[in-house]
Amino acid sequence: MATVRIPATGQEFRVGKVVCLARNYVDHIKELGNAVPDAPVLFIKPATSIIGNGGQVVIPATSSDCHHEVELAVLIGRTVKDVTPEEAMACVAGYGVGIDLTLRDLQGVLKAKGLPWEAAKGFDTACPLSDFVPAAEVADPHNLPIRFTIDGVVKQDATTALMMRRLPEIISYASRLFTLEAGDVILTGTPAGVGPVKSGETLVGEIDGVGRLEVSVA
Ligand code: ZN
Repeated sequence: MATVRIPATGQEFRVGKVVCLARNYVDHIKELGNAVPDAPVLFIKPATSIIGNGGQVVIPATSSDCHHEVELAVLIGRTVKDVTPEEAMACVAGYGVGIDLTLRDLQGVLKAKGLPWEAAKGFDTACPLSDFVPAAEVADPHNLPIRFTIDGVVKQDATTALMMRRLPEIISYASRLFTLEAGDVILTGTPAGVGPVKSGETLVGEIDGVGRLEVSVA
């Protein structure tokens, strides 16, 4: 059972699912040669893919090209279904840092065949998550510097202001497909700069005012 915490309030949540948004930053869409989607592209990582701060990523032997994607993580605080964009932010309990680890070689094969991506996105340890800060402590989640480093070398350096779809729309859209329960997490897409991670490296995702997430690669 995966859990996440808001240390400031002492709250702990059991995570049911992680709903992920693909292709939400134009620069990242361009670097992978994808098209800007008309509607949000969603996929789900199982709760079993979550590891916490200080955890260890284990890249499946089936892949030789595991990529990092640093993302703003949104923690849902209460059960909602069909929430409107206007009401969506009221269900956010907190914000954290997530890494959407992706087996890019396998995903490429699946994409080319029009097949689901879960094998490339949902493997064990594919979803490192930091602790969360209370939503009330983040004045504007759409204006946060977001960075990712490998062994101290900056790979991704952007701001959440570059997200095409904003949180009210993402949460509302997701809630029309999936009931969002307390403890569910939404990953909001990654900015440009994705690339491979290798055995022995230290990965750090940081979002100013939200937190820091450090994991190692086995
Ligand atoms: Zn992603």
